[in-house]
Amino acid sequence: NIYAAYTGAHMKELEAKQALWRKYGMDDHLLLDREALRKLVDSEAYCGGMLDISGGHMHPLNLVLGEARAFESLGGTIYEMSPVARVDHKRARPTVHTREGEVSARLVVLCGNAYLGEAVPELVSRVMPVSTQMITTAPLGEELADALIPSDMCVEDVRYILDYFRLSADKRMIFGGGTVYGGTDPADVVAKLRPNLEKVFPRLKGVKIDYAWSGNFALSFTRMPQMGRIGANTYFAHGYSGHGVTGSHLFGRTLAEAIDGDQTRFDMFEKLPWYPFPGGRLFRAQYSTIGSWWYSFKDAVGW
Ligand SMILES: Cc1cc2nc3c(=O)[nH]c(=O)nc-3n(C[C@H](O)[C@H](O)[C@H](O)COP(=O)(O)OP(=O)(O)OC[C@H]3O[C@@H](n4cnc5c(N)ncnc54)[C@H](O)[C@@H]3O)c2cc1C
Repeated sequence: NIYAAYTGAHMKELEAKQALWRKYGMDDHLLLDREALRKLVDSEAYCGGMLDISGGHMHPLNLVLGEARAFESLGGTIYEMSPVARVDHKRARPTVHTREGEVSARLVVLCGNAYLGEAVPELVSRVMPVSTQMITTAPLGEELADALIPSDMCVEDVRYILDYFRLSADKRMIFGGGTVYGGTDPADVVAKLRPNLEKVFPRLKGVKIDYAWSGNFALSFTRMPQMGRIGANTYFAHGYSGHGVTGSHLFGRTLAEAIDGDQTRFDMFEKLPWYPFPGGRLFRAQYSTIGSWWYSFKDAVGW
């Protein structure tokens, strides 16, 4: 995994991160100057970066499909296309209501993250849905793909509104970025992301884009994920702020421990403070957008 820097200020940020993480025993991060980075990612856009040798990348859809299969093989049942509209968590046996019916359970875990919407009013002000977009090129061929990312690592830059990318197994460039606070989809994802892709890799100018999509993650004000309980038997976990592929699994395990009777780690996370976004539900997206302009300006001028 590579963190790519555009400016000297970004490099300073990475140095500080490396020092901080070292303090907590994470000694897996190497700083890279321009030449060292260039050997791993062939882009002139960056002045250096940091390599995380403990990181990696994976196919998230295959992970979800594998986990669904494992869940079903253990006797679980997945009901798709039946959104929960309301949760009555005050009863001893919490009840979830869908349009067609209701289900009571000994225990409910709410993990709808950015898509839970208004179904659970108690959780609405804790996180804000934010959309981010992705495009995928046509297969580039082994030679070009390997020339662009010789290390085959995944890359994110360290700007406030960042780009993130990697190669797929069939040598497409999967390129993400863009942020819409509030979680709406931009009208034209390709038009939004293509200039970013071409800036990082000018050799991909005009490349055919085969797929484009937008999805929502749940942002918390502090960027710390949250877990807790809104009723004696109703737990929740959410707010991984764009880093939930590993985070949600750690939280899943911690919730399972709590449900099994060992609350030690759950209690630690539950106690962490959280803050609503300034501006409340009506204006939080606008406030965050204005804030992001300031940080993007700082990124652009190298402060
Ligand atoms: C484009 C994009 C790129 C990303 N890239 C990365 C990355 O590189 N690394 C990383 O770590 N993270 C990344 N993330 C973030 C990551 O996807 C999330 O943090 C992670 O998916 C959170 O997992 P989750 O299970 O909490 O929520 P989700 O994966 O969002 O799952 C929530 C589920 O709950 C269901 N649901 C919601 N409400 C209801 C309801 N009322 N009734 C019934 N079902 C409901 C939804 O349909 C969904 O299936 C990215 C996100 C996006 C959108």
